[in-house]
Amino acid sequence: MGDAHHILVVEDERAIASFLRRGLVYEGYRVTVADRGSRALEAARDDPPDLVILDIMLPGEIDGLEVCRRLRAAGDDMPILMLTARDEVADRVAGLDAGADDYLVKPFAFEELLARVRALLRRHERRRSEEPGADGVYRFADLTLDTTSRFAYRGERRIELTTREYELLLLFMRHPNQVLTRDVIMERIWGYDFPGESNVLEVYISNLRRHLEAGGEPRLLQTVRGAGYALRLPSS
Ligand code: CA
Repeated sequence: MGDAHHILVVEDERAIASFLRRGLVYEGYRVTVADRGSRALEAARDDPPDLVILDIMLPGEIDGLEVCRRLRAAGDDMPILMLTARDEVADRVAGLDAGADDYLVKPFAFEELLARVRALLRRHERRRSEEPGADGVYRFADLTLDTTSRFAYRGERRIELTTREYELLLLFMRHPNQVLTRDVIMERIWGYDFPGESNVLEVYISNLRRHLEAGGEPRLLQTVRGAGYALRLPSS
């Protein structure tokens, strides 16, 4: 096994939350628990999970459906497994409409949950490792990157990219909402041997931003201080 998958459990019922945490940690997952919708969104932004287990019924203004909608609106594409209290078709449909990938009705057997988690992670990784959809286009918020023509678009605005800029943007589009360190980016785009002292990456990032923001669009290529860069929506 490589790096442990990170699972965000959003559940306000303590007994269930701690049962899930213990079970998932035992299975080798890294687990974060949030007991409110607002905290779930913060947690997902600060430390993006590979999968979210999301209870529909949460106290406060942001319930599970709303968490789901906001994650999807922010461009997050990780699998989301909804937990519903009752076996009600309306809940399930609402959950799937909000962007959930699958749902589980409480009470459930832990083994069943594990099977779903594994299946969702597998499916997601397959999707990630593939080229984008049949149309060859990656999408994040209003930004699209066409791997056939090698043009990027902000909405309808077409952006021409140099080869390096294209490769750099492609790397981010393949890892949305993920912090990519300077070392990782340098290694992927320029290879191992590139001198570490150079500011070539900073120059390329700033060129890419200039292209991507030429129409006054909000910044999508964020600097994560002390860590690297991430393709994500500006924090509100
Ligand atoms: Ca609940």
